[in-house]
Amino acid sequence: MADFSDLLLDVARVRRDFPILDREVHGKPLVYLDNAATSQTPRQVIETLDDYYRRYNANIHRGLHTLADEATAAFEGTRETVRAFLGAADSREIIFTRGTTEAINLVANSWGRANLGPGDEVLISRLEHHSNIVPWQLLAGELGFTLKVIPVDERGVLDQTAYRDLIGERTRLVAVNHVSNAFGTINPVAEMARVAHEHGARILIDGAQAAPHQALDVREIDADFYAFSGHKVYGPTGVGVLYGKAELLEAMPPWQGGGEMIKTVSLEVPSTFADIPHKFEAGTPAIAEVIALGRALEWVGQIGLELISAWEARLLAHATEGLAGIEGLRILGTAPDKAGVLSFVVDGAHSQDIGLLIDQLGVAIRTGHHCAQPLLSWFGVDATCRASFAAYNTPEEVDVFVEGLERVVGMLR
Ligand code: PLP
Repeated sequence: MADFSDLLLDVARVRRDFPILDREVHGKPLVYLDNAATSQTPRQVIETLDDYYRRYNANIHRGLHTLADEATAAFEGTRETVRAFLGAADSREIIFTRGTTEAINLVANSWGRANLGPGDEVLISRLEHHSNIVPWQLLAGELGFTLKVIPVDERGVLDQTAYRDLIGERTRLVAVNHVSNAFGTINPVAEMARVAHEHGARILIDGAQAAPHQALDVREIDADFYAFSGHKVYGPTGVGVLYGKAELLEAMPPWQGGGEMIKTVSLEVPSTFADIPHKFEAGTPAIAEVIALGRALEWVGQIGLELISAWEARLLAHATEGLAGIEGLRILGTAPDKAGVLSFVVDGAHSQDIGLLIDQLGVAIRTGHHCAQPLLSWFGVDATCRASFAAYNTPEEVDVFVEGLERVVGMLR
């Protein structure tokens, strides 16, 4: 059994921040292991949302009244919180989006349309979430550039030799995830960025699964673009972030038009656009959610991502050990460098049946293709079960999960 005693994480105290963890499912205490899809929300974040609507609900930027000022200050203050969270140089490099998906679509539709055409190449990988595949496929179909794919090996690790063979003078962009949602593989993105830049290419990193699990520094990575979602990092749904280097964002055209993103609008001469970041934030944003995301990142900072990461690594080791005793179970994704994600299939038992039956025991895991069909199909499966960990999970919960899985597999095989 993995030893947790040397870690300073007071998990009982962490759990007290999450009201939802007190609930029961089918008469059993909830064991929530679907964190890679959406993490639960601490009361500090819930209270921040509540406080906004109770005390200072107002549209931002344009108002001169007190409520509008307060909402604007809290919203723009969050930009600074996100800047610090990502280690970015300038809060103008932080754009609020609806999530990682919208952040990637923003880069595709703004930077992509301005910089890609026939003869150009974009490199993605087999490890990507659909949201870092489909926007590039759509754009490639329209603009005529070529999409190339970095392969994975049998452990679910990106083949770095193949990457260096694939990248060339035609490569304009490398778009890869930092951590795989399906397998938990941690990619060497700083090294990949170095290689991309050596070839004059830009790199976009999908950090949806990295932001909740490890300390980030976009300048150390030298990311050109970095995206993540609020709801996977203890924040609300409907909000996410795109980081982009200022010089890139400044040169990029707007991608959505409307209020907030303009300087002047005229019917006689072309409209002019706001400076970054507002040029990319058309319309009324998710004000309460942005502010609450700031509170979520503060909450994470109070515990510390190093500690969260170490805690989750122990949970992963403990769960991996537990699963090893289940006959016919195969773990997919065995990278040496792995975040708290455990994907598996069981001979003779359908993943969906496992997910449904284990839910009866109060255990929430995810089953399906995890929006990573090209990866799963390469491994010869169309679905896996996935357990994924967060700061509030405990070794005892892992035991409930493993014992529950043993029972369920016993019933199904
Ligand atoms: N990229 C990765 C690696 C993800 O895990 C996810 C969500 O599961 C996304 C992108 C999409 O995030 P969202 O649905 O919040 O836009």
